[in-house]
Amino acid sequence: MDDCIFCKIVAGMIPCRKVYEDERVLAFEDIQPMAPVHIILIPKRHIATLMDADAEGMADLQAMMVAARAVAKLKAIDARGFRLVINCNEEGGQVVFHLHMHLLGGQKLRCGLA
Ligand code: AMP
Ligand code: ZN
Repeated sequence: MDDCIFCKIVAGMIPCRKVYEDERVLAFEDIQPMAPVHIILIPKRHIATLMDADAEGMADLQAMMVAARAVAKLKAIDARGFRLVINCNEEGGQVVFHLHMHLLGGQKLRCGLA
């Protein structure tokens, strides 16, 4: 996707502070962190929203979950706890239309679910 900011990060056209990478997934520091630990995990393939994930996309989502556990360990918050969030479409608060998961932690998080 030519004008997708996260595809540009995958392609190395826009820099990021990478924290984790594997065959399917890239994880990097959020540019506007909402918590002491705020990591964005994305599939390397472009998928616009959670609702657009096909069978291959579901494999990406599984890989993102495995990656989230690895990142939580890297950031030493696996035992303390953390939160995973996927915003889907406008009312879900999605701003970047390349599927991504937020990993938030490093402090006691407020409930803030809606
Ligand atoms: P969402 O509202 O779920 O679409 O969240 C998009 C997230 O991507 C926000 O938390 C932004 O701060 C983050 N973000 C946008 N551009 C960048 C970037 N170039 N590098 C890192 N994070 C970004
Ligand atoms: Zn993309």
